[in-house]
Amino acid sequence: MDLNYSRTVKDPVLGNGLAASKDLSAGEPIIKISEPFLIVVEKDALEKVCSYCLIESDTSSLKRCTGCKVVRYCTPACQKADWKLIHKNECSLLQRLPGIPPTPVRALYQALLRYVRPGPAFELDSRSQGLEAHVPDLKRDRKRWDEMVLQAKGALEFSKTPADKMDMVTRLLCIMATNAFRATLPDDTPIGLCYEPTLALANHSCVPNAFIMFDGRGISLMALDPIKAGEQIFISYVDFTQSRDQRRAELKQRYFFDCECQKCKHAYTPYRVCKESTAISSEKLALLYDYKTLVFQAEEREQEIQVMQQELNDVREAISVTHSLIDLSKTTASETERLNFLKQASSDLSLYKTHKLFALPPYPTILDELYLSYIDNEHLTSALILLLFIFLNCDIYNWPQPNHPIRVTRLFTIARLLKYAASLEPAALQHSLPFIPSEVLAGTDFIDATHAVLILVDELAPLSHGQGTRFVGQVELELREVEEVQRLRGGVGKALQKWQSEGNSATDGRKIASQIFTGLRTLAGFAFEVIEKQRL
Ligand SMILES: [Zn+2]
Ligand SMILES: [Zn+2]
Ligand SMILES: [Zn+2]
Repeated sequence: MDLNYSRTVKDPVLGNGLAASKDLSAGEPIIKISEPFLIVVEKDALEKVCSYCLIESDTSSLKRCTGCKVVRYCTPACQKADWKLIHKNECSLLQRLPGIPPTPVRALYQALLRYVRPGPAFELDSRSQGLEAHVPDLKRDRKRWDEMVLQAKGALEFSKTPADKMDMVTRLLCIMATNAFRATLPDDTPIGLCYEPTLALANHSCVPNAFIMFDGRGISLMALDPIKAGEQIFISYVDFTQSRDQRRAELKQRYFFDCECQKCKHAYTPYRVCKESTAISSEKLALLYDYKTLVFQAEEREQEIQVMQQELNDVREAISVTHSLIDLSKTTASETERLNFLKQASSDLSLYKTHKLFALPPYPTILDELYLSYIDNEHLTSALILLLFIFLNCDIYNWPQPNHPIRVTRLFTIARLLKYAASLEPAALQHSLPFIPSEVLAGTDFIDATHAVLILVDELAPLSHGQGTRFVGQVELELREVEEVQRLRGGVGKALQKWQSEGNSATDGRKIASQIFTGLRTLAGFAFEVIEKQRL
């Protein structure tokens, strides 16, 4: 372990857990592990990430292993390191098999080869021993259990583990099934499975105070909120912006417990959680949205929801229809149909729109899917308008902490979409967004906007993704690029740079940034014009 500000604690209800061993500030790393116990790239990601350092790249620039033709690497150094670590064993296995085994089988196989003591003992490694296995719970689901037994058998044979060790192998598979994390790219795209016993001790809450972050093979546990010494550390095992029913169903199905966190116990809405959250203050971010106003609005929406209970109950059926429409949008082959399903879902929940309850599930999912539909169809200016709206009306409530990685990643995407808009000729830009008045579009300088948003991302990225990470490097690269463009064309770039280094006391820069962000809020206001009028 490279860094550890945690210790194991025993929670009377939740069992083993992790607590902070010192006072931690928001965005501070709690645990850093450069070489986790196990990371396996999943089938769908094998073509697009290096199987060793997990960097994302074009398939053409990743070299395929000439032996198995399954895994790819970004450099000979990565290939060599992975060969030494595990691939010397796995390569010949992959060559012999007709297809790539499922990820849990590959993970179990690798764990058996790397950690289970060779020789007659063949014991479970000591770090996995204390972890929850949920064998009886898993056995109850007949179909799932049968599949797991098959997987365990496969890994046992592939690793040449003696057949009489089948119980131990199955137990290890169960431990991994209940304790592994999704390995992700910095933008939260899942790319594989990571099993790390130390982090597996962290308990779940739907109002977490910490999160897991990957940087290549490295994995960190980061503080989302300030955490006092001795206070327990909670991460969320599921997407905590889902509805209470969805979260609880997923937790029960995958981890076999009924969540008793405050949010579940009292059925808190995102607005309620938001108004009670502590967030790090950023005076720069306050120019985009004011935190006090946010809390005030969250309070207002919460009160409105309380008096709307009857109406909200009445739309229960519409909500379940909405879920079906979202599912349909994901399965249809026609892009037009996909968009229409989502538009239908949005209009079915017009009650939410009327009362501006955009952060209430399932509304954020509808908006997200609409945004993705525009991205997939390369309608990037429409995607920009939608993402600005989502950021200002869903994200800041659902993730009130400015250093939440999903929020920071979104802000970075906004910067990139602004950069794209800046690259368009004015006529092409207007043509792509015909229902936005020309004076609004002409009044926005998209290069300045890119610059200002990147300054925000640059400030937050070390707190969301960790200092010195690839993501921070990417952000800095984009920032240097726009600074260079600004330098060449003169204008307000200098003032913005001053604002970046001196904060809001740099009056000129502050005024410019403030104007830019007002412009972005205006653009976000056209989101429903996009949803209602924009065709693919
Ligand atoms: Zn690599
Ligand atoms: Zn190979
Ligand atoms: Zn909960």
